[in-house]
Amino acid sequence: MKQTIDEFLSHVRQRNPNEPEFLQAVEEVAETVLPYIVKHDIYYGKNILLRMVEPERVISFRVCWVDDSGEIQVNRGYRIQMNSAIGPYKGGLRFHPTVNQSILKFLAFEQVFKNSLTTLPMGGGKGGSDFDPKGKSDGEIMRFCHAFMSELFRHIGPSTDIPAGDIGVGAREIGFLFGMYKKLKNEFTGVLTGKGLSWGGSLIRPEATGYGNVYFAQKMLETKGDAIEGKQVVISGSGNVAQYAAEKVLQLGGKVLTLSDSSGYIYDEKGIDAEKLKYVMHLKNVERGRIGEYANKYPEAKFIKGETPWGIKCDVALPCATQNELGESDAKTLVENGCICVSEGANMPSTNKAILVFHKAKILFAPGKASNAGGVATSGLEMTQNALRFNWTREAVDEKLQEIMEDIHDECIKYGKGEDGYVDYVKGANIAGFVKVADAMLAQGIV
Ligand code: GLU
Repeated sequence: MKQTIDEFLSHVRQRNPNEPEFLQAVEEVAETVLPYIVKHDIYYGKNILLRMVEPERVISFRVCWVDDSGEIQVNRGYRIQMNSAIGPYKGGLRFHPTVNQSILKFLAFEQVFKNSLTTLPMGGGKGGSDFDPKGKSDGEIMRFCHAFMSELFRHIGPSTDIPAGDIGVGAREIGFLFGMYKKLKNEFTGVLTGKGLSWGGSLIRPEATGYGNVYFAQKMLETKGDAIEGKQVVISGSGNVAQYAAEKVLQLGGKVLTLSDSSGYIYDEKGIDAEKLKYVMHLKNVERGRIGEYANKYPEAKFIKGETPWGIKCDVALPCATQNELGESDAKTLVENGCICVSEGANMPSTNKAILVFHKAKILFAPGKASNAGGVATSGLEMTQNALRFNWTREAVDEKLQEIMEDIHDECIKYGKGEDGYVDYVKGANIAGFVKVADAMLAQGIV
């Protein structure tokens, strides 16, 4: 089996040089899915995974805009349309200086499996730009979003490809993007998700990724007769996912010890309570400030510059910042400090070596494609409401979100439970996500 996996990976490596993040995501999937394919005749010998690692379409385009000082800026925009076997392409847009083809292909590849797991009919895609929103004025953000959409609009549509937010793309950016799409197409449709409530958005969509991640962690803990209640929780990040993960941990009776951003992390031994979290939301979403300011406002907290929070002793860790933020030595520290559950809110925050450490220690570990799927699932619910031209209540959407997270958890157990009873959620998520997409591809023939 090792030879089959090595041959496959070396082929993919050759075809995608200089794409380390994409190769990392493919490696993690190949190691669990190829052994499954080999054992199942309907998938064997059909190069199905080889077809899945090749994007159906890669779009790259120039984005020119004028900054506040009158200078012309040039950025690169992308949309990776990865797989549309089970529905239109669906996935977020990321605006961050690190964005390149490798990052977006890894995200689009993960999205295919994640969207398949949600039980909803959505294919996978991802897009974005190397544009850096940090320090930009509202006017600059608007001009960039308008310029970006002036090309993207011709490649997307409510039944073709439905983008949403990701890092650097929140409610403000979705508004500007939607405005330009509507103007160019002269159509008011659900072409983007994460919209404002008065123009087609869904209740719970802002909360969904963070809430969903904590619902998933709770489900994992329940398999051990345990719960979030009373747990010490370390969270990385302080954006949309981290904020609402923290909110749900507090609602379920856990204690939140840390939050972070690219400048470092804050450690509040007394716990980040609801009032302090409200301050963080204002700081990050309205003032667009840095997390270090928390320690000025609450002097009982420490700000540790330039570091990640994995050295803080905890029961549960929720990596909610970005890819590869948790490496092998961080994983070892977490395990040594008694952490029993790691649930990923970000996409691929743990390196493959870190995952091996968690698996070896047999602690609960959920990969983002399962545990952070609540965001895109609720985007799917937003699409349904748009199609119905109707809005569901907060309670109705939250209930559906909880049901979906439970279904994903069940699927992971179905395909990931080993003979000794330990659940490999990575294997479970990869195979469950694969089966649905592969069956659809087989039914549709070689296209
Ligand atoms: N960017 C989010 C993700 O990684 C959400 C995508 C969406 O709602 O389409 O799943």
